[in-house]
Amino acid sequence: MKYDITNIFAKIISGEVPCDKIYEDEHVIAFHDINPKAPVHALVLPKGQYISFDDFSAQGSTEEISAFFRAVGKIARDLGVDKDGYRLIANHKTSAGQEVDHFHIHIIGGRPLGPMIMPASGNF
Ligand code: 5GP
Repeated sequence: MKYDITNIFAKIISGEVPCDKIYEDEHVIAFHDINPKAPVHALVLPKGQYISFDDFSAQGSTEEISAFFRAVGKIARDLGVDKDGYRLIANHKTSAGQEVDHFHIHIIGGRPLGPMIMPASGNF
């Protein structure tokens, strides 16, 4: 699969589409999810053109990967969810329900989050 330069997160990174920005540096941008699933629901993205975690973890430079994960921790602390706890989610492809094909991590918190995985329908 080739990176689609017209995806919505590419447009947010370029400034073509606005966002409720939380953080930005040379390698990373973070903003509030447009459809939050909890009181805190932030999205953290590398600015490079990586489709998903699989792509980023294989192709990202050491500098980008380091900057990204440092930023995720800092943003969670800045949002105050490190105290009571938060969940990180990175959806890769169809089975995980990835909607936007630019790698991002969700930081979700601000309330008790319940079971780690909600069954799609019934049991396995
Ligand atoms: P995924 O399912 O790909 O892991 O998550 C994509 C997330 O992006 C969803 O939670 C969705 O609400 C969010 N999202 C989609 N379009 C926009 C947008 O234009 N702006 C913002 N801030 N979030 C978006």
